[in-house]
Amino acid sequence: MSVFVGKSINKKVTIGRIHYYEKNQSSVKRETVADVEAEWQRFLAGRETASAQLQALYDKACAEVGEAEAAIFEIHMMMLEDEDYLDSIENIIKNQSMCAEYAAAVTGDNFSEMFASMDDEYMKARSVDVKDISERLVNVLSGVEGGTGDISEPVILVAEDLAPSETVQMDKTKLLGFVTRLGSANSHTAILARTMNIPAIIEVDIQKEWHGHMAILDAVKGQVVIDPDEATLNEARAVMEAEAKRQELLMTLKGKETITTSGKKINLYANIGGVSDTAAALQNDAEGIGLFRSEFLYLESSDYPSEDEQFKAYKTVAENMGGKKVIIRTLDIGADKQVDYFNLDKEENPALGYRAIRICLTRKEIFKTQLRALLRASAFGCIAIMFPMIISVDEVRQAKAILDECKKELSDTGIKFADVEVGVMIETPAAVMVSDELAKEVDFFSIGTNDLTQYTLAIDRQNPKLDCFYDAHHPAVLKLIKMTIDNGHAGGAWVGICGELGADLELTKTFVDMGIDELSVSPSAIFHIREAVRNL
Ligand code: PEP
Ligand code: MG
Repeated sequence: MSVFVGKSINKKVTIGRIHYYEKNQSSVKRETVADVEAEWQRFLAGRETASAQLQALYDKACAEVGEAEAAIFEIHMMMLEDEDYLDSIENIIKNQSMCAEYAAAVTGDNFSEMFASMDDEYMKARSVDVKDISERLVNVLSGVEGGTGDISEPVILVAEDLAPSETVQMDKTKLLGFVTRLGSANSHTAILARTMNIPAIIEVDIQKEWHGHMAILDAVKGQVVIDPDEATLNEARAVMEAEAKRQELLMTLKGKETITTSGKKINLYANIGGVSDTAAALQNDAEGIGLFRSEFLYLESSDYPSEDEQFKAYKTVAENMGGKKVIIRTLDIGADKQVDYFNLDKEENPALGYRAIRICLTRKEIFKTQLRALLRASAFGCIAIMFPMIISVDEVRQAKAILDECKKELSDTGIKFADVEVGVMIETPAAVMVSDELAKEVDFFSIGTNDLTQYTLAIDRQNPKLDCFYDAHHPAVLKLIKMTIDNGHAGGAWVGICGELGADLELTKTFVDMGIDELSVSPSAIFHIREAVRNL
């Protein structure tokens, strides 16, 4: 039995066999062929298979996460039809008598380099796609199985890191939990684990040899135990049983109000990262969506998601929530959330850098595309718009002016939209200090305690070495929260919390006493908070 420690993402325990997930990398040999025509036909058959795989992935992604996120697979299918790309492969096979795998790999490398060197941002971003598609072709031609397709029983997935394009392909019913070396508490993997309510640990010194071994993934203690002995297994089983019983008890709170014994009602909303997360929000009886991290639409896409793609995603969430409030945060890209096609410069201090509203106010077309999509979707439910990383009243005025421009454009073309509430995230000390002024500009505040703690304590939230200094209960943070609530209320804005601290049961009473109106937490935390509030 051996124990490896890491950072817990969702504090649960599971027992299962390990599946070590490795990206497929077929090594391509430079082999010549005698019958070039037969080789070309073999390539065409391989292309058909790759195309069928992509169609299946597209359908699956559409059903699970929506069309916007699925679009990447459509782009890949189109590339498989590209004439120049196919001419190059045919040329290498027929004129140089090379095998199909080699022709696909070399063409992939050449095209990828060519795209990468282009000035046009859109074309530059195609570099990754052409490489991806060539790797798929090589895998098909050399008969290598793809991804996690060979998993037959639920497993603990161990990987270096997981990209959104990989998690979207996984059969979620086969996942007991995740263990990764990379990733952060806000990585896509982490958010997926919280939303699926399965345990996960990151920053673990993972090893390939674990594949097939039994393990306990204990995200309560933040450890993975390989080949556990019987006593340790029994201990873990007892924790799991207690957790299952507790979950059953919590389910009796379904349909009940989140209200204190003295009658103070708290709006208990869910944080989501994508369309498919609404299912977990509804299952856990969320009273609304308090934070839709819209940047995941951008992260899961290989190019700027179009207005229509975004409109469909926002409309689906609004409709699924059946008239309950859905607060959609506008793009919060930059810092830890990097997207290739934005071509952002490498920065010395990305957390203090060109990100979120700063990108939106300076690259107005990207912002307007999103705002138009949000306004159009508002006709189908109760949508509210929230701006991230605000530091000044002027920024809010600018953002609202752009929103008004979008409203006018839609009105001029006869497109319907509803009255939307507008709010800001309070996640910088500057925003707190001017929250009395900000409150006059908006309908609501949502306190982003993850960033507010980072910027108040001057502690990089991504740096695991600083975990021992990162104290979200620091009196400075709590005073800023109190100040925000008081200033918000004085200026007529309601105030919520959507950072991780909102789910901290040790602080539920403190927040309610401070006068908080809303708490937005991961779906799996909802019943716990409701129970705590009802017991106050
Ligand atoms: C926060 O900063 O608390 C927040 C909710 O936003 P994110 O974690 O996405 O930065
Ligand atoms: Mg934030």
